[in-house]
Amino acid sequence: MPRNLSRYHRAMKLETLAVHAGRRIDLATGAVTPPIHLATTFERAPDGAYPHGYQYARESHPNRSDLETCLCALEGGAEAAAFTSGSAATLALLQTLRPGDHVVATDDVFYGTRSLIVDLLGSWGLESTCVAAGDPTEIERALRPTTRLVWIETPSNPLVGIADIAAVAEIAQARGAEVVVDNTWATPIFQRPLTLGADWVLHSTTKYFGGHCDVLGGALVARDASERLERLRQIQKSGGAGASPFDSWLVLRGVRSLACRMKTHAENAQRLAEFLAAHPKVVRTHYPGLEDHPNHDIAARQMSGWGGMLSFEVAGGREAAFRVAAATQVFTRATSLGGVESLIEHRASVEGPGTRAPEGLLRVSVGLEHPDDLVADLERALSSLG
Ligand code: PLP
Repeated sequence: MPRNLSRYHRAMKLETLAVHAGRRIDLATGAVTPPIHLATTFERAPDGAYPHGYQYARESHPNRSDLETCLCALEGGAEAAAFTSGSAATLALLQTLRPGDHVVATDDVFYGTRSLIVDLLGSWGLESTCVAAGDPTEIERALRPTTRLVWIETPSNPLVGIADIAAVAEIAQARGAEVVVDNTWATPIFQRPLTLGADWVLHSTTKYFGGHCDVLGGALVARDASERLERLRQIQKSGGAGASPFDSWLVLRGVRSLACRMKTHAENAQRLAEFLAAHPKVVRTHYPGLEDHPNHDIAARQMSGWGGMLSFEVAGGREAAFRVAAATQVFTRATSLGGVESLIEHRASVEGPGTRAPEGLLRVSVGLEHPDDLVADLERALSSLG
């Protein structure tokens, strides 16, 4: 299997790409699993060239290149850039902008993303408008001649909102703005934003790509070569926030099993969502696979699976939600998502002031346990509400 699959990858299925893209047999030993290259510096040839393409590990190194090759193939982009976290990737893309540039973001993007756009880079001169998610006409109204990026997340956090990627791309690009889709929740297994017209895909690879809650990472995939992509590479190389050898290796190891993990996450989540939607103590269940989700039809058009994330609201606000989370035994009370174990989280208290999460809402990252055990655990926990 050639290391660079670019000539082949458009014809391959995602399951195959997840296993093979960015893979190579180690020439020195024949090892099937790639070694972790901890070297920070690489030998020059007598003529001063770098025959293997690597000079200094801040700029690039073999493990990061392998990961980037794989992520690029999975999303169907021109190039990928891997970072130390999803937030580092977000910041790097925002740093390609200039003071006075304008960003439109939907108000349900990850709260850390909103804080980087509005607070951190706002003080540096970036202008921004947050608009209600799910309505492309709101985005259209917010566009200015200086708008460079429109930032959406779908499905979104924690209300599992769905934005119409193709509609947003059409509106934004007609006015000269590029569209970034945070695809962390769906992963390319269920949604490929670049094929729907988006310009950039962002991932917190900490989540489903890593898949085991043991590595932080982030990545951007660009649909096309561009000046902004060159600036992003410069920021990655000079800024020092590129993914390390071990982290790149761990994320790539996780990606190898992404396709089959996502299918089980989604099957389990559908089962739990249906159970919760029918439960008398649950006032609302947010999951795109439920037909009463307000954008179920859009999700059906642009996703090939509903994903492993859901949230639900119990009557009785914060106190009731805490009681349910405290009574679970299989679920772990923790933030983050995308690991093999099911997590449950009271989102409003994690996000703090300005949160859009209702006080009675619990967010669930559905893991790979048997669904009967997950349903039984939530049934027992909900019975604590009397
Ligand atoms: N995007 C989404 C949807 C997230 O959930 C998160 C983290 O929770 C991020 C981005 C930021 O990623 P990281 O925690 O890897 O910096």
